[in-house]
Amino acid sequence: MIQKSFNHLDQAILEKLKAICGEGRVLSYGSNLEKYSRDESNQESAEPDVVVFPEEASEVSRILKLANKTGIPVTPRGTGTGVTGGAVPCLGGIVMAMERMNKILDIDVDNLMAVVEAGVITDDLKRKVEEKGLFYPPDPSSMDMCTIGGNLAECAGGAMAVKYGVTKDYVCGLEVVYPDGTCEKLGGKIVKNVAGYDLIQLLIGSEGTLGVITQVTLKLIPKPKYSATLLVAFNSTDTSACVVSEILKQKIVPAAMELLDERCICAVEKYLNCTFPYSKAKVLVLIRLMEHHESVISNMIQDIKKVCKRFQPQYIKEAFSSKEEDVLWKVRRSVRPALKALSPDKISEDIIVPRREISRAIKAIEALAKKHQMEIFCYGHAGDGNLHVQVLRIKEDEDTWREKTPNVIEDIFRIAIDLGGTITAEHGIGLTKRSYLPMALGKKTLEIMKNIKEAFDPNGILNPGKIF
Ligand SMILES: Cc1cc2nc3c(=O)[nH]c(=O)nc-3n(C[C@H](O)[C@H](O)[C@H](O)COP(=O)(O)OP(=O)(O)OC[C@H]3O[C@@H](n4cnc5c(N)ncnc54)[C@H](O)[C@@H]3O)c2cc1C
Repeated sequence: MIQKSFNHLDQAILEKLKAICGEGRVLSYGSNLEKYSRDESNQESAEPDVVVFPEEASEVSRILKLANKTGIPVTPRGTGTGVTGGAVPCLGGIVMAMERMNKILDIDVDNLMAVVEAGVITDDLKRKVEEKGLFYPPDPSSMDMCTIGGNLAECAGGAMAVKYGVTKDYVCGLEVVYPDGTCEKLGGKIVKNVAGYDLIQLLIGSEGTLGVITQVTLKLIPKPKYSATLLVAFNSTDTSACVVSEILKQKIVPAAMELLDERCICAVEKYLNCTFPYSKAKVLVLIRLMEHHESVISNMIQDIKKVCKRFQPQYIKEAFSSKEEDVLWKVRRSVRPALKALSPDKISEDIIVPRREISRAIKAIEALAKKHQMEIFCYGHAGDGNLHVQVLRIKEDEDTWREKTPNVIEDIFRIAIDLGGTITAEHGIGLTKRSYLPMALGKKTLEIMKNIKEAFDPNGILNPGKIF
């Protein structure tokens, strides 16, 4: 539990918050605030003094005006699925829970746009637009729990980033409440916009430190009608990067290319109590294709199989129906729970390297695991070069493990940077990575970023303690 430095939320402020939101939408002393003290990083926690549940931008605005005037920290929160402590109210104060601003306001088929409130659950939006034959591609694995606002704040990605990009590629407009309470709209249902600096893109990935996003206008695309999956297992780690690069070099762009190392495959087998036909493989690559024409998919599958066969796969299996695809993807879906079952003490990093360097990164991490005698597992989005490196406590006692992990994490980040990558691809800096940010950015760049924060939030009330 982090020691709070803020400690002056008095009754008068509480009454003002109740006047803004109504009694039923303010949780304070004596209520169960535990849920709002942590996120899925499970590394840091701190209880807020109060949690407010605004239902309109005007309420967000009045709360921020009050907080700005009285110097109370405000931590915006979606559903707390973040994995870097971004929604943890580390200085106490107000948690602004956006979960009640969950209306899908408009699905505009003529303009291929959706307008949603920030607290909409990502998967709810995806399903609603798919009912209209449209597609909102960003697909974080947490999409059935996380919010669009949280996705913007972290610039969430997902498996389909290879072909379709990440959250920032779909945002055309937003409504933001700045820390002083001013509410303004940026962009809209427009696909081009160069009026001034691109503050939309600056707010995306800003981790709730520059403004509270209340409404978002998202670009939609036609939903591809056909999909297929290819699962390929190899006996050598080296082949994974070669296969991924070779597929792209052949100008084949799958929707997703995911990877599991041999330790993850074993963990899933143990978790599911089964033996896969590719049980002893060094690396597993899952490739998903999504297209508008069936013939295109069949041709792509043939071409990808040709590429894979050059690298002598140990096992190869294709699936064309959604039911069959689901069976193949079960191994990928099960990695996270499988690792959690191995050990509740787990640090999850999401480094990114150029796609070509994935095998080198995995091998360097294997060597690192040996050097530090740590249990490290790798899986992730091979098509983007984004690896989720998991450091688990299996054999060591807790104190030794906690003592060793900061050095191991620094070494993992060093591997990513030395290979031309960076320390986070989609999970953000939050609290857990802030001490490592100077490894990834130059001094001047960091200074400019801090000045940007100062320009948006001179009193430092919005999500203080995050990123820097
Ligand atoms: C099982 C699991 C799988 C995951 N898979 C992925 C994945 O595939 N890809 C990926 O990118 N991430 C993934 N994540 C991480 C997480 O789900 C994403 O970062 C997600 O975008 C967080 O959304 P949230 O609504 O839970 O936000 P929270 O965790 O509540 O908040 C995250 C950050 O956003 C800020 N914030 C939230 N709402 C707003 C708002 N309206 N305005 C301003 N700031 C706001 C918060 O202050 C905080 O800094 C996964 C997490 C879990 C637990």
